[in-house]
Amino acid sequence: MPAPFAVIFDRDGVLNEDYGYAFEPAKLVWIPGARAAIKRVNAAGGRVMVATNQSGIGRGYYSEAQMHGFHAEMERQLAADGAHIDRIYFCPFHEEAAEARYRQANHPDRKPNPGMLLRALGDFGIDPARALMIGDKPADMQAAGAAGIDGYLYEEGDLEDFLLDAASRTGLPL
Ligand SMILES: [Mg+2]
Repeated sequence: MPAPFAVIFDRDGVLNEDYGYAFEPAKLVWIPGARAAIKRVNAAGGRVMVATNQSGIGRGYYSEAQMHGFHAEMERQLAADGAHIDRIYFCPFHEEAAEARYRQANHPDRKPNPGMLLRALGDFGIDPARALMIGDKPADMQAAGAAGIDGYLYEEGDLEDFLLDAASRTGLPL
């Protein structure tokens, strides 16, 4: 059996349009090629993970339940395409959070820290050399580097095309 591999996506600005603290399911707008990119990894037998900073929870803009509702809508639309995300990791913490339980500066999960990425690799037994991350911010690239995986900075264009180019550079079988 070939070694398992994984693609870790940032969420806002990579999978869905980032119009600032997205949480309403009705306002989910996919990035071009994002669903096809996820389906491509599914079909190749890779794991699809999402690692997303969600300080909007800590800041009190929306609740964890609302975020889960947004994710459920993503999964519902993906399922209609025969695609899925294996696991979503989120970091609700922020140093200025209104609620004490979310108030923490420099949380190890908050990108640019690699906590979510390291957990994703560990949870699914993925060698860092068999993973890549796609993000749209320098913090995503820093987190990837700190986790020992290749990071690719997406800016615009078709995400499936971007993924295929990244996968060929890292040597993942997509
Ligand atoms: Mg982003």
